Amino acid sequence: MDVQYETVVGLEVHAELKTASKIFCGCSTAFGAEPNTQVCPVCAGFPGMLPVLNEKVVELAIRTGLALNAEIAEHCKFDRKNYFYPDLPKAYQISQFDAPICKKGYLDIEIDGEKKRIGITRAHMEEDAGKLIHQGDITTTPFSLVDLNRSGVPLLEIVSEPDMRSGAEARAYMEKLRAILLFAGVSDCKMQEGSLRCDANVSVRPIGQKELGVRTEIKNLNSFRALERAVDYEAKRQIEALEDGEEIIQETMTWDEESGVTRSMRSKEEADDYRYFPDPDLPPLFISQEWIDRIRASMPELPDQAQQRLMDEYGLPEYDASIITLSPDTLAFFDECLQVYPDAKTLSNWMMGEMARLLNQNNIEIQEVRVRPEGLVSMLKMIDEGKISGKIAKKVFEEMFMTGKDPEQIVEEKGLIQISDPEVLQAMIAEIIASNPKVVDDYRSGKDKAFGFFVGQVMKKTRGKANPAIVNQLLKEHLDREG
Ligand code: ADP
Ligand code: MG
Ligand code: ZN
Repeated sequence: MDVQYETVVGLEVHAELKTASKIFCGCSTAFGAEPNTQVCPVCAGFPGMLPVLNEKVVELAIRTGLALNAEIAEHCKFDRKNYFYPDLPKAYQISQFDAPICKKGYLDIEIDGEKKRIGITRAHMEEDAGKLIHQGDITTTPFSLVDLNRSGVPLLEIVSEPDMRSGAEARAYMEKLRAILLFAGVSDCKMQEGSLRCDANVSVRPIGQKELGVRTEIKNLNSFRALERAVDYEAKRQIEALEDGEEIIQETMTWDEESGVTRSMRSKEEADDYRYFPDPDLPPLFISQEWIDRIRASMPELPDQAQQRLMDEYGLPEYDASIITLSPDTLAFFDECLQVYPDAKTLSNWMMGEMARLLNQNNIEIQEVRVRPEGLVSMLKMIDEGKISGKIAKKVFEEMFMTGKDPEQIVEEKGLIQISDPEVLQAMIAEIIASNPKVVDDYRSGKDKAFGFFVGQVMKKTRGKANPAIVNQLLKEHLDREG
């Protein structure tokens, strides 16, 4: 009998914490500056320089832990993780090894309409490394430049339990985690800029087997789509290998987005290889209950609470509410519309439909969009007042999205006002009916298609601007009256 396999996934996520200065020095963390302009002897790793912990980093780590339902350690410490790489001038990274700041949390995802809880093993603070910029190519002389601006930027590494069972679940976890970090205000979470990064550990095992299979780790997945595809590809690769009688080797891999395959990078290091030991330059950290309570009291609304609010107060379906709460900017847009346009379901339809489609297509975020809530609301009111049809509204919205113009202006400029005047439509309908006697006969002999033909003709004549409800009503009257 064929063995059935299941996929097992655990994610390691690195989020850059939103502080003005680095974790152990006063250098700026701003993204995009000229290379090596935000560097000092501490973050450049000069010998003998002393790190000083940035209190804001600890605060944001606690805030994240609370948002993830985790235990905050009363006492934790920093360790040195030793390895050599050209972007790590000290040859060690300050991280937390066996005493992380947060432990035993969870978050809930929704998958196929069902809630599933994913455990979070731990979250620990650490410093980011610099960046290598590779130049030249193999045919000339390849070389790399080092930019240390990122060296010492604070990170929180969030490690999940191996609780996910597919690429789709991994993606749902990542999307939810991002939403939580954004709502909690702890990270910008810009995957393209690298302020949110994800490594996926993937293994497979025969269904029913308790022990985990041998895993591989896919590094630096920089989009949700890449994460989902890479996990599914890698699971399939492993199953095929096992079915061919091969063994899975524990190794580190990369994802090639273009060809859609994972590739081996190196065999995996073990914790032993890093020779972790407590950093002697940093004292252990004691976190008072009083500080935790103060942070807890200042926690903002989180995605699950916001979702519940949208369901309870506005009767939004659970699915809609979960999409609207994927980012605070989306929720703010929605909330702002709702103040002046209380039809929540119509709003969510537009935001999940046309708005999401255009955001995706143009690869931008809602806060960068030129359509503002007032614009969307004015447009919806024009539909309600019968000035434009729902179909024309989609064209109008796309134009608003691209140009930031008011819907009124677009409708005016392009002559898109809906024709609802019965007299104008009446005349048109009479003419169309008169010149298509055969189709009239078809209609009277019960062919439903014939009615659609007449509607189509009116729409063609008016270039889509006829009010469909009125057209339908007038047509019926006409055809039935003369029958
Ligand atoms: P490291 O990768 O640094 O050795 P861990 O041992 O803590 O760190 O594991 C990292 C991640 O791998 C965790 O998210 C964990 O859930 C996941 N993981 C561990 N074993 C497996 C496995 N056999 N299959 C899938 N994921 C796994
Ligand atoms: Mg790992
Ligand atoms: Zn510095």
